[in-house]
Amino acid sequence: MMTESKSNHVAIIGAGLGGISAALSLALEGYRVSVYEKNDRIGGKLNWIEAQGYRFDLGPSILTLPAIFNRTFRKAGTRFEDEVPLCTVRPHWRNFFEDGTVIDLHPDPDVMAAEAERAGEPARNVHRFLDYAGRLFDEVSRGYFDEGLDSASDFRAFYGLSGFPKFDLLHTMHQGVARRFKTAYFRDIFDFFIKYVGSSAYRAPAFMNCLPTIQFRHDLWYVRGGMYGIALALGRLMDRLGVEMHLQSDVQEIMLSDDGGAVRGLRLASGETVVCENIVSNLEVIPACRRLLHLPERELARMQRRLEPACSGLVIDIGLDRAYENLAHHNFVFSGNQKNHFRTVFQRHELPSDPTLYVVAASRTDPTVAPEGCDGLKILPHIPYLRPDRPVTQEQYMALKDMVLAKLERVVCPDLRRHIVYEHVWTPEDIERQYGSNGGSIYGVVTDRFRNFGFKAPKASPHTAGLYFVGGSVNPGAGMPMVFLCGQNVARKIVTRDRDGGT
Ligand SMILES: Cc1cc2nc3c(=O)[nH]c(=O)nc-3n(C[C@H](O)[C@H](O)[C@H](O)COP(=O)(O)OP(=O)(O)OC[C@H]3O[C@@H](n4cnc5c(N)ncnc54)[C@H](O)[C@@H]3O)c2cc1C
Repeated sequence: MMTESKSNHVAIIGAGLGGISAALSLALEGYRVSVYEKNDRIGGKLNWIEAQGYRFDLGPSILTLPAIFNRTFRKAGTRFEDEVPLCTVRPHWRNFFEDGTVIDLHPDPDVMAAEAERAGEPARNVHRFLDYAGRLFDEVSRGYFDEGLDSASDFRAFYGLSGFPKFDLLHTMHQGVARRFKTAYFRDIFDFFIKYVGSSAYRAPAFMNCLPTIQFRHDLWYVRGGMYGIALALGRLMDRLGVEMHLQSDVQEIMLSDDGGAVRGLRLASGETVVCENIVSNLEVIPACRRLLHLPERELARMQRRLEPACSGLVIDIGLDRAYENLAHHNFVFSGNQKNHFRTVFQRHELPSDPTLYVVAASRTDPTVAPEGCDGLKILPHIPYLRPDRPVTQEQYMALKDMVLAKLERVVCPDLRRHIVYEHVWTPEDIERQYGSNGGSIYGVVTDRFRNFGFKAPKASPHTAGLYFVGGSVNPGAGMPMVFLCGQNVARKIVTRDRDGGT
């Protein structure tokens, strides 16, 4: 069967947040939009499971910068906060260390100052660091985020050479942290803000120290009932704006003109072809180039040197028959040697023996996600993406899971393993199979000063007119607000092209 094309028709491959955002922005500009999603629900990594009275966010559990989502909702005549039941979370994070030290991150400067002093970190260091982070955030926002800059030459044109020193370009993120904090506790905590993009603080450029501003200035949010509430609201908005959603529609090929210079359509696993001149791929750039454009492996290997995947994760969900009140909603249990953790995962590409753990106890804020008096915990150590030269067996993943549970039991939750009544584990293979991400990456492309200086792939294909990319492997990178922003910026690129002419 052949579907008719229309000049203002855009086909989107994948209904992750980036694809949905592009779909909504284009529909709001009057385009006819069809989305083809291989799974049976929208949201991509924004996903969930429910079992035995426990509900777990399988993907994102921290919402930041809801104002970015609100831009699209406002254009549609509504408000994000009216469509999604949002609340702020206190403390933002609770940080546990092996020596028994516990430090909360709190947006109230007085509370934060008291936490710092208690841990031996002068409160003025926190103020000084957050000032530095705020200045970086303002610079990164006005060009890289808001203008959707895609390359070093875009940067030069926008900021001018004289603007570069404002990005603290000569340092890594860790150096930016270590120069401003005295204690190992605060160095480890602020280094680990790099978790938002699944990279190493020892390899990321210093301007990634903009990340704490996202939380400290703009707060940290939860969606009552679970994060999937965002996808439900986006689904309603797509229906209202007439976006055509095709679930269980696996795209197998992007069809090009004979010279590869223009998009002709796409082919689905069912054999159906869709004729169209504009395609936005929410499947990551390298998997799209491999599976849908069939580029040679040599070329893909060259691309991958710059666009190396961010880390993957072992996603452990456990239902408990009791609650641990010492856990906050969001918790980090730090590695005894975080530098070694980063090096093991990001340079040696091996399973870490003592990873920093992210532990979510959403029932602390939302009693509907677990049976009364019980906790459901999501535990996420960052681990390497899949590499053929570093194969990992299922037994090794399960041994890591046992080690992680033993550490959590030792440092935070006594007798934890005796109280587990439900367990669900996803490995990088599951993540790759479910979402098609490169090597099971959970945050798209790695942020690495020495590989890409933090740049991801550009939004428009440099070779093929009408072919665009959106999502965690594209600038400005991963995380719910960033991929949503990316979708808005891709749509703006298409609209500007059609208004001003050009490819
Ligand atoms: C465990 C985990 C924890 C995370 N924690 C956070 C967090 O706390 N806060 C935060 O902001 N972010 C977090 N993230 C990151 C965030 O989830 C992602 O950056 C974001 O959701 C990715 O969106 P995306 O648009 O890149 O697309 P994806 O979510 O990757 O969606 C791509 C879509 O394309 C579909 N697709 C793939 N191939 C095809 C094909 N051939 N045909 C049709 N459809 C196809 C997939 O099925 C999928 O639906 C987390 C991610 C994970 C996995």
